[in-house]
Amino acid sequence: MTTFTHTAVGGALGCAGLGSAGSFAAGFVSHFPLDLIPHWDLKSKWMESCLTLGALGLLFALFGPTPVFWGALGGALPDLEHLLPFSRKFYPSHGRLHGKALGPTHALVQAGIVLVCAGLIYRVGLS
Ligand SMILES: [Zn+2]
Repeated sequence: MTTFTHTAVGGALGCAGLGSAGSFAAGFVSHFPLDLIPHWDLKSKWMESCLTLGALGLLFALFGPTPVFWGALGGALPDLEHLLPFSRKFYPSHGRLHGKALGPTHALVQAGIVLVCAGLIYRVGLS
């Protein structure tokens, strides 16, 4: 999945009442099964970074250092290794387990996932 999708799912997991550390861990672990599913990945690291940092910044601005923010950060964090200058990947789903690559129309599925997560975050975050 795109890092933006991982960020949204992690943020939504932050609404599950797990606390900050639990939400961070849930987001981090959720990255694994989402990467196993066949999906489309954004090719531009620059655009991916901007979208993810923008989402994390928005969540922090709206909710502060709450479990929603920590869950989102945990969801996004494994993809940080794509920006590092190492050829070897350490997160388990970034190797041979990574899901089959789909075309850019899969972005519509991921947009749906992000919208559902954003709705959940918005609803829980304001209650
Ligand atoms: Zn990943």
